[in-house]
Amino acid sequence: MKGQRKSGPEKIMDEIIQVIHKNQSYCISTHSNPDGDAIGSQLGFAHTLESLGKSVTLLNRDPTPRIYRFLAGADRILQTLGEKRSFDVYFIIDCADVSRVGNELTSHVTSRVTVNIDHHTTNRRFADINWVEPDASSSSEMIYRLARRLEAIISPEMAECLYTGIVMDTGSFRQGNTTPSALKIAGDLVELGANPGRVARELYEKRPFAQIQFLGMVLNTLEIRADGLLALVSVTRKMLQATGCTAEDIEGFVNYPCSIEGVEVGALLREEPFRGVKVSLRSRNLADVSRVASEFGGGGHQNAAGFYLDGTLEEVKNRVEEKIRFLLTDVHPIKMG
Ligand code: 5GP
Ligand code: MN
Repeated sequence: MKGQRKSGPEKIMDEIIQVIHKNQSYCISTHSNPDGDAIGSQLGFAHTLESLGKSVTLLNRDPTPRIYRFLAGADRILQTLGEKRSFDVYFIIDCADVSRVGNELTSHVTSRVTVNIDHHTTNRRFADINWVEPDASSSSEMIYRLARRLEAIISPEMAECLYTGIVMDTGSFRQGNTTPSALKIAGDLVELGANPGRVARELYEKRPFAQIQFLGMVLNTLEIRADGLLALVSVTRKMLQATGCTAEDIEGFVNYPCSIEGVEVGALLREEPFRGVKVSLRSRNLADVSRVASEFGGGGHQNAAGFYLDGTLEEVKNRVEEKIRFLLTDVHPIKMG
């Protein structure tokens, strides 16, 4: 690298490293309804800072989903500070938009510097320092690279947090973001002590009986639209009441419609507690579902995106179908034409 100018991301990483060396107290938040990468990168980063002797407070709007509670430090994540508190630095990880943290949280945190670390294409660069790498598989991958650059000690527990984040954000190494770098880093993390078998058991083989019954109900709602290119499933308020399942039990269900031969886009529509519908979209390689999500005020990545829409399930289905048909005319001009 001698004599070469540093590229953008490396320069920002070095700026963040300066900030870390100069300060002592940190608050880290991730997005509401956190997923595996959100929790994995947040905890992995907390371990990084603590290995350097820093003090870290973890603050998320929503509780950690059951399947991620095995990760070291998950029991320390607070849902509220109770009062306004000051930190030297506030890190927000895996959030395309600061509103995804939750206004009730951010209004209680004051800091001299805010830092945004994320890999969403739709990131709004809302902080003082913004390190956004849409090509990174996950925020966990970015935290790993930062930890290495900081020469932090990576414990087996920390490695398992970051490994879990990469597993979840690549759909267990199946999605288009399963890059050489994601696989190499996952390999490094296994070498550092992450146990893939144990992680897989925690993530996929400890499901409650009621969740599988609930899955049966959801699969019964399967519909194929847009000439076989779009498959949808729906979750109603009634199903949640009948099974006692909650939002976190739904994670992964959207992969079923997406697994049908010939389907380009899979969608899961969930009735929100009071009104409106949350839509999760997944695509095969070619279609960029974040374009549809952004049009409806949401966001995400090419292959996984989401948004909220007011209206009944049926109305939202029709609006999604219309947009997906339009999106897929670029991808399948002959079939859709
Ligand atoms: P999911 O469908 O699993 O909720 O989310 C898929 C991806 O889309 C995630 O990367 C998530 O951060 C993003 N996403 C989901 N819902 C929203 C939303 O309402 N707003 C934004 N900006 N991103 C979302
Ligand atoms: Mn992520």
